[in-house]
Amino acid sequence: MNNYGIDNWSDNNFIIENGLAKVNHKSKPSLISIVKEIREQDFKGPLLLRFPHITQKQIDTLYKTFNTSIKTYDYKGSFNAVFPLKVNQLPNFIHPLIASGKKYGYGLEAGSKAELIIAMTYNAIGSPITINGFKDKEMIHLCFIAKSMGHNITVIIEGLNELEMIIEVLKETKMSSPNIGLRVRLHSGGSGLWAKSGGINSKFGLTSTEILEAYELMEDNNMVNHLTMIHFHIGSAMNSIKPLKKALRESGHIYAELKNLGATGLTSINIGGGLAVEYSAYEKTRFYSLNEFANDVVFTLKEIAKQKGVEEPNIFTESGRFISASSTVLITPVLELFSSEYELDHLKLKETNPPLIQELHDLHRDMTKRTAYEYMHDSMDHMESLLTLFDLGYIDLQDRSNAEILTHQIIKKAITLLEIEDSEELKRIDENIQEKYLLNFSMFQSLPDYWGIDQEFPIMPITHLNKKPTRSASLWDITCDSDGELPFDMKKPLYLHDINLNKEDYFLGFFNVGAYQDTLGMKHNLFSHPTEVNVVFKNDEVILEKIIESQKVIDILEDIDYDTEEMKSILKANLKQDIFIKLEKYLNENSYLKTIWSYYDE
Ligand code: PLP
Repeated sequence: MNNYGIDNWSDNNFIIENGLAKVNHKSKPSLISIVKEIREQDFKGPLLLRFPHITQKQIDTLYKTFNTSIKTYDYKGSFNAVFPLKVNQLPNFIHPLIASGKKYGYGLEAGSKAELIIAMTYNAIGSPITINGFKDKEMIHLCFIAKSMGHNITVIIEGLNELEMIIEVLKETKMSSPNIGLRVRLHSGGSGLWAKSGGINSKFGLTSTEILEAYELMEDNNMVNHLTMIHFHIGSAMNSIKPLKKALRESGHIYAELKNLGATGLTSINIGGGLAVEYSAYEKTRFYSLNEFANDVVFTLKEIAKQKGVEEPNIFTESGRFISASSTVLITPVLELFSSEYELDHLKLKETNPPLIQELHDLHRDMTKRTAYEYMHDSMDHMESLLTLFDLGYIDLQDRSNAEILTHQIIKKAITLLEIEDSEELKRIDENIQEKYLLNFSMFQSLPDYWGIDQEFPIMPITHLNKKPTRSASLWDITCDSDGELPFDMKKPLYLHDINLNKEDYFLGFFNVGAYQDTLGMKHNLFSHPTEVNVVFKNDEVILEKIIESQKVIDILEDIDYDTEEMKSILKANLKQDIFIKLEKYLNENSYLKTIWSYYDE
């Protein structure tokens, strides 16, 4: 049996019971029952299932853990958090997040004008908004407008020019200024894949000289009282806590120095994001707990405040990945197993066959557990010889097809007889005879971080989990691009089940995809965002809320600026009326492949 590393990555959000992957909440529905209900409404193709109760759990855990540390250390500052919109801006995710965070005063972080508009519209008045990233005067004006709506907004400046623009807007509009934060360019860098967001060569933040210049500029313009926050971010998915401790010491001292210079309004340190989640099915990759993380932040800041004789700062975090990753599961239907053409019923032996083919036939018939390795090796040698014979013209295409089928069947039989997944020898063989699973999704659209930076995501079939998976698997998406592949990796081997798709369906779940994947994804081959749904629990009932279907073909074309009316009229002019009506139906469907649902017996 294989539990796909669920104990390592699922944080108890999903469990395996009776061979099915289930949501570990209330009535514990199986994922297949949810998928089935959606597909019965004719939504085929890939699905994104969002679980707002998991987002709620993450927000509760974050606040509870920090507030416990604050109590333990008798810390005088408060804990505050904002969700960085760049991590997931989609309404199906954001609306429940805002509702879940209301009781804590949970806010939003924005890094662009569009994100700011989301925050201005939906963030609760009084809950914090922080603004990061590069800004122009228009963006700064928008921050002033947000402030005039009553928002508790802090503009974190990345460079002196942004402070100069704030002063200009203040003078030109006479509106009241939002709070100001200074992003510091730390000497210390982060750890993990995104470590370059921190450190002295990072793209963002002010050097010590610039911090002092900024302070002087604020003094000259009577604005020191608006300076409320010091900010840093050492990079996403920190795998070790050490760089955070260094960054805390550095920024803590900057905070204290500015306080002692006279920055009376300065009350907060914003430690950015970086809190990692576990993605691996094979090994531990995050080497600290949330408890340790919170204790280190609180303890370090307390020590510095004591040393420098300043008040303990309020703590802000901008954790995104930790809050959102586990809330979303991508479900992909398997469309085809490429070796299905090697099934025995395709074998067409002749009355008289070439001797090597006859021998393959006998190896297959006579193989036992004791002879499995030997016969498998023999069959692979024979196959190679038979391919050479084919190239030289000594055997025909039917012989070659028979040889391929028999060799495949011999290897399959050997794997079943041997039943040892961990043998190095078997893994080597697995690499040669991978089964290729064609999945109805686009890697570029739905797992851009896998494609771009080799980020591992947990993968697990959502049924058949009480059966031993015997096929070493490589996964193909439906784009016409060979990069849309997740090849079998001997170091992180993925085994899946041998399925006859004519008889039953098979779906793979990709877990922890709720952070960054939704809007980083791209429309390669014009496959757009999958159909998505919020799965909510009202008492023990499971309710599918807000199903948003993947874009129609015609809308995708319009999005990339085709004149779709013109396209339709050209097509109409060149087709018979009844055919055009059929074509129009296709224009109004999404572009993923349609598969026929057959019931899976629970
Ligand atoms: N804050 C800032 C300024 C960021 O740049 C980022 C992302 O890189 C985050 C917060 C969120 O980081 P994470 O998703 O690792 O929590």
